[in-house]
Amino acid sequence: MRAAVVRDNSDGYVDIKDVTLRPIKNDEVLVKMEYCGLCHTDIHVANGDFGEVPGRIIGHEGIGKVTEVGSEVTNLKIGDRVSIAWFAGGCGHCEYCVSGRETLCRNVINAGYNMDGGMAEECIIKANYAVKVPDNLDPVAASSITCAGVTTYKALKTSNIRPGQWVAIYGCGGLGNLAIQWAKNVFKAHVLAVDINDDKLVSAKKVGADLTFNSKDADSGKFAQEQFGGAHAAVVTAVSQIAFTQAVGSLRAGGKVVAVGLPKGDMALSIVKTVLDGIEVAGSLVGTRQDLAEAFQLAAEGDIHPIVATRKLDEVNDIIDEMKAGKIEGRMVVDFSK
Ligand code: NAD
Ligand code: ZN
Ligand code: ZN
Repeated sequence: MRAAVVRDNSDGYVDIKDVTLRPIKNDEVLVKMEYCGLCHTDIHVANGDFGEVPGRIIGHEGIGKVTEVGSEVTNLKIGDRVSIAWFAGGCGHCEYCVSGRETLCRNVINAGYNMDGGMAEECIIKANYAVKVPDNLDPVAASSITCAGVTTYKALKTSNIRPGQWVAIYGCGGLGNLAIQWAKNVFKAHVLAVDINDDKLVSAKKVGADLTFNSKDADSGKFAQEQFGGAHAAVVTAVSQIAFTQAVGSLRAGGKVVAVGLPKGDMALSIVKTVLDGIEVAGSLVGTRQDLAEAFQLAAEGDIHPIVATRKLDEVNDIIDEMKAGKIEGRMVVDFSK
């Protein structure tokens, strides 16, 4: 079967190769992939940003149907539509796995990073970690919920934003446009959308942002303070170190910044401002299986509408170039029937 594989030199691209998967184990299922979106994290993986993984099949916004079921599997049957998400397995018994924080498990399995992922015609996953997709949710849209959607849904939960409050969303790409929709339609907040690319801000406005701001050469923090007295929370999905510092500047006293994007480097944080303004900082990593089930359900009920376009597997490196150049609105999703 054909798969998008990280190159030996980790140059940020993939090769489309013929790969033979091992037989499934008793607790696993084989999934015939229908769709898989390309997340910016796939570029980090192909680049070796989290450690080099040559030969690894990328992909963690995967949707497909179960074609083979291991002998111990009780929760899935042949024909079920399931997701292949970044969180693809925990130990099941550590303090994180048993306290609703399973994505922090120290023995975590991540699809497309330390396990072969969903940017392939087939994928093997532990049945207990494949979340079912509701019948009434479009599978292309479901691919975007599998990472971008659940990650931003969880980040907004983590922000503790309440109805009527202001949230600043930094980065309005694949994750950001969904963050805006969750914030508006589900959390009933007011949204300031910040990006350095005007096209992304037009798109942000389209999906419901109340205010937009291009922070390329201007101070988004000052704008937020002047317009509405500062944000109650900021969610940073930008692949840019400086955006994290700017996000702190957009907060009002007592505000919380939720870090989601994964650029290399450190974020600057004034100790005095943090103390005197009671600033909170939290990292947020994808979402649990329950978060994903909730996000699927809300999307199926029409609360959010992922912006998606389908492509061929052979075009993954083109999609990578388009993403780096900031040319993608929403997500590009590989359709394995093309
Ligand atoms: P994307 O490329 O689609 O979007 C990134 C956006 O950031 C673009 O719109 C870009 O114009 C904008 N941007 C760049 N510099 C900026 C700046 N200085 N200020 C404001 N905006 C700026 O990428 P994506 O798929 O949305 O992923 C975003 C990041 O989130 C990546 O680093 C990815 O690895 C990470 N991510 C994290 C998690 C998690 O669980 N924490 C999950 C998925 C993705
Ligand atoms: Zn992702
Ligand atoms: Zn664990």
